[in-house]
Amino acid sequence: MTDCLFCKIVAGEIPAEKLYEDDDVLAFWDIAPQAPKHFLVIPKKHITSPADVDAADEKLIGKLMRTGSRIAAENGIGDGFRVIFNNGAKAGQVVFHIHMHVLGGKDRPWPL
Ligand code: AMP
Ligand code: ZN
Repeated sequence: MTDCLFCKIVAGEIPAEKLYEDDDVLAFWDIAPQAPKHFLVIPKKHITSPADVDAADEKLIGKLMRTGSRIAAENGIGDGFRVIFNNGAKAGQVVFHIHMHVLGGKDRPWPL
């Protein structure tokens, strides 16, 4: 996708503070953190939203979970973090390349 912010980060056209990268996934600190520790994990492949994940992507999306959990532990929040996927503008999705938010670093900072 030529006009996708996160595809541009994957391609190295826009800088990001990377935490981890392999052939499938990329993790980087969120530019506007909503918690003391807040990073995003994305597939390198462009998938627009959670609702667009198809059967062939199931393993890839599972890898986001495993990667996010490992990076959370490496950054001292393995014992308490929140994972969020926003789907659609109505839910607050702003970047239309699927991304997993991982937030932590303070005690129960969320209402749910
Ligand atoms: P969402 O509202 O779920 O689409 O979340 C998009 C997230 O991407 C927000 O938390 C933004 O702060 C974050 N974001 C936007 N641009 C960048 C960037 N260049 N580097 C890191 N995070 C970004
Ligand atoms: Zn993209």
